[in-house]
Amino acid sequence: MLAAKVFGKEDLRLVEVERPALSEESTEVIIKVKAAGICGSDNHIYHGQNPFATLPRVIGHEFVGEVAEIGDKVTGLEIGDHVVVEPITYCGKCYACRQGMPNVCKDLKVSGVHVDGGMQEYVKIDVKQAHKINKNIPWTTAVLAEPYTIAGNATTRAKVELGKTVLIQGAGTIGQLILRMAKAKGASVMISDVLDSRLEFAKLNGADRVVNVVNENLAEKLDEWTNQERANVVIDAACTRKTFEDCFEFASVAGAIVPLGMSAEPCQVAQKPIMQKQLTVYGSRLQAYQFAPVIKALEEGMLTDDGVVTQTFSIHDIQEAFDLINKEPEKVRKAVITFD
Ligand SMILES: [Zn+2]
Ligand SMILES: [Zn+2]
Repeated sequence: MLAAKVFGKEDLRLVEVERPALSEESTEVIIKVKAAGICGSDNHIYHGQNPFATLPRVIGHEFVGEVAEIGDKVTGLEIGDHVVVEPITYCGKCYACRQGMPNVCKDLKVSGVHVDGGMQEYVKIDVKQAHKINKNIPWTTAVLAEPYTIAGNATTRAKVELGKTVLIQGAGTIGQLILRMAKAKGASVMISDVLDSRLEFAKLNGADRVVNVVNENLAEKLDEWTNQERANVVIDAACTRKTFEDCFEFASVAGAIVPLGMSAEPCQVAQKPIMQKQLTVYGSRLQAYQFAPVIKALEEGMLTDDGVVTQTFSIHDIQEAFDLINKEPEKVRKAVITFD
């Protein structure tokens, strides 16, 4: 069977690999992959810039497919079921797991990063990682479940809810999904970016206010919008040094901040706003327990794929997909790889 493997920096190859087989008496499931989204972090692996990834690696952590085989001990799943794959495994016993944060388990393994991922025709997973989704949901919509769980985790951590004001810095794909999630949870949302095209899309996604920081002053706009209170929740999806530092100024009293960047570069943040406003900074890595609510929201049409998936490519043309993402990034919100 075919697999898309990164061997080194900008060295992505389609290779023939052995199809996985079930172990005896297992809770394993073999998924025939139908669609896999390309994430910014896949592109980082492709460029040799993901500190967590080990090579060579079959990439892809956003994937969905049909159940092809099930182990003897599997219950609750049948051959032919459509599933979204939760791309993490964890120990269930360490401190993080006991705190309800398996996403930062000491033995965390992420598909497509630490173990082979979804950019191949068949993948073996444990039944715990398979989340059933209605067969009437198109594969190219179902494939957004994983990115939506990232938005679900960030907004859950910061307790985004009805009556709160949320500022999202950065209207790229994750920023837009967080916007939709925050709106679904009833919050009022302002979103900022440097590109009008992204802000136009944000308006379609329900943004209450959009700010282009190239020609508008975000602090002023925020004061105007919140009557000087500033934002109850600030989410940094732009992940630059400046946007991170600004979070502490843009947060309201008793506010929450969720930085999504993973830069190792130190920043300048004063102690005063944290103490004075009693701020809380929430880290948010991947997701914990978000698949069930996100899938339900997709099935009920509360979360959708309107305009997010901009291109689909056959697995045979995966190089073309990466070339487009790297040469014309403004044309791509989410490119999806499909399998016959
Ligand atoms: Zn991703
Ligand atoms: Zn653990």
